[in-house]
Amino acid sequence: MSRAFNFSAGPATLPEAVLRQAQAEMLDWHGVGASIVELSHRGPEFMQVAAEAEADLRALMSIPDDYAVLFLQGGATTAQALLPLNFAAPGQAVDYVVTGHWGKTALKQVKHCVAANVAANGEPGGYRDIPARDTWQLSSDAAYVHYTANETIHGVEFRDIPDVGDVPLVGDFSSSIVSEPLDVSKFGVIYAGAQKNLGPVGVSVVIVRRDLLERAGQPRAEILDYRAHLKGESMLNTPPTWNWYLAGLVFKWMLAEGGVTEFAARNARKSALLYGVIDQSGGFYRNEVAAAVRSRMNVPFFLHDEALDKPFLAQAQEAGLISLKGHRALGGMRASIYNAMPEEGVQALATFMRDFQQRHG
Ligand code: PMP
Repeated sequence: MSRAFNFSAGPATLPEAVLRQAQAEMLDWHGVGASIVELSHRGPEFMQVAAEAEADLRALMSIPDDYAVLFLQGGATTAQALLPLNFAAPGQAVDYVVTGHWGKTALKQVKHCVAANVAANGEPGGYRDIPARDTWQLSSDAAYVHYTANETIHGVEFRDIPDVGDVPLVGDFSSSIVSEPLDVSKFGVIYAGAQKNLGPVGVSVVIVRRDLLERAGQPRAEILDYRAHLKGESMLNTPPTWNWYLAGLVFKWMLAEGGVTEFAARNARKSALLYGVIDQSGGFYRNEVAAAVRSRMNVPFFLHDEALDKPFLAQAQEAGLISLKGHRALGGMRASIYNAMPEEGVQALATFMRDFQQRHG
């Protein structure tokens, strides 16, 4: 068996140690004679898995007690759609800062039921930069301000938390959660699909300041109600136990590796190495994002001649470097280098890119 270095944007590579542990526990979880995925979510075994996952995520992210943590289905897109239903009155203003494809998607989910105001929009500049904070047109009475901490396709990342005053800040951290220390107390809501930095697709994490759950929101079914999910311990209906369990193993792995401080250092080294290869290539490779907001998680880049894209991908694959094709919206290449991508993987990619340039430059 040989595992490639997998640069997929999500579902993304998982820590090998986690996959091995899941493999070892697959048929018989902790001696109970069944897999965890075959047991009731309300049984003592899975309740333990769920409690540990929450405790471990709280420890990893230093989540204060006045924040609730939910593990839900529906991905980040459903979380986006539930924001106004839970936190905005019908027709109330909500502010969106759009810095890439996913910010635009978030906006699309809410337009029908609130007065969505685009407070800032990076689209005219091709999402290559983040509009300066002093240009944002925030509403005075918004229910919340939404932004995308890291744009997975465009490779644009906020390097600090925007100050929006007393209005609750909602951050889509799908592709950068637990990649570095984060002051959770600055947020109203943090949400993320798991399939990049937290584990497998199929479970998402929503971290909500508890006082926001007292807002009336809008008429909605119980299953769309975060208050009800909290009361039901994220088990209003049958939860995605396998995904939740795997995410829990990822949390334990991250804690054992040294937590978010350690991953922040690794992620800084990994992204600096790749951007260095690109910037020092004399235009052979190109990343168009303003240096100050380049993503540490997703590195989109273009070859100077599109005709080289195919040979680049084919030779990379032969070298054991897979899933480097860029998103169809942007073309070119993209290297996603989340926590579970080892530094050796990025070093191998850097070496391959330099060698490829030697051969084709
Ligand atoms: N937000 C961001 C930043 C994303 O990267 C993605 C998925 N790539 C989404 C939202 C949508 O997530 P999901 O597919 O889990 O709905």
